[in-house]
Amino acid sequence: MRRFAYGESSLVVHALTRAHGRVHLLAKGAYRMRSRLYGRLDLFDTLELDWSERAGAELGNLEQAELLERRQRIPHSLEAYRAALTVLELASLAAPERAPASELFELCRSALNALQAGREPALALVEFELAFLHNLGLAPALEACASCGGAAPALAAEEHSTSRAEFSAAAGGRLCTRCAQRARESGLRVGTLPTDVLELAAQLAREGPPQRELPAALLERTRDFTARFLRRQLDCQPKSYRVFLSAPHRNRPAPPSRGVQG
Ligand SMILES: [Zn+2]
Repeated sequence: MRRFAYGESSLVVHALTRAHGRVHLLAKGAYRMRSRLYGRLDLFDTLELDWSERAGAELGNLEQAELLERRQRIPHSLEAYRAALTVLELASLAAPERAPASELFELCRSALNALQAGREPALALVEFELAFLHNLGLAPALEACASCGGAAPALAAEEHSTSRAEFSAAAGGRLCTRCAQRARESGLRVGTLPTDVLELAAQLAREGPPQRELPAALLERTRDFTARFLRRQLDCQPKSYRVFLSAPHRNRPAPPSRGVQG
């Protein structure tokens, strides 16, 4: 997930492992060309690691690193590279220490594989973010009402505006009219989101990308939604979200086209 130079020739590696979650390892001499770890500890790859631990020591000693999957295409596209860094950053925020994390490991592996295979980075990221939320037990309700589980139909759309549905991140997602009303009365923030964004997110969470080509603007609005929802649920701002989320909310209702009197 991360790597830092240590001393003159060594590296400290934060790795995500299936069986032990997050582990912190010292790769002694990894920058020496004669080292068996030389050139083996790049980001985005899948490795088989052997390490030893001493009781009380903060860092394990990395003994061997065997490359299982190298994903060298990712750094060739800036967008893919940024998306892959986001995957690693989110994994790093969620990875348990010294506890199994096989589901998270597989989520990261499949997101990195998709990026290596040339999947549109924004799409790979939205899919990862939705699966990541699900893995944390924080997936938003996208179709039914988060509160009562009933149908949560779109609001009556005004002329020329896109269809929207009531949504409250604090209440866990989409809401029906009655539950939205109750949530407001109890002081929760309830807004609205465009239904095309909720529908695309639901489809991606359920069955993966559609066959048809996705409009870039819809994909960007869907990413705006997943990134904002995730930031709220994690209660922190991932570093790699800073630029993307510094733009105004891409799913805000369009301002009324005519002036309102009174
Ligand atoms: Zn409801």
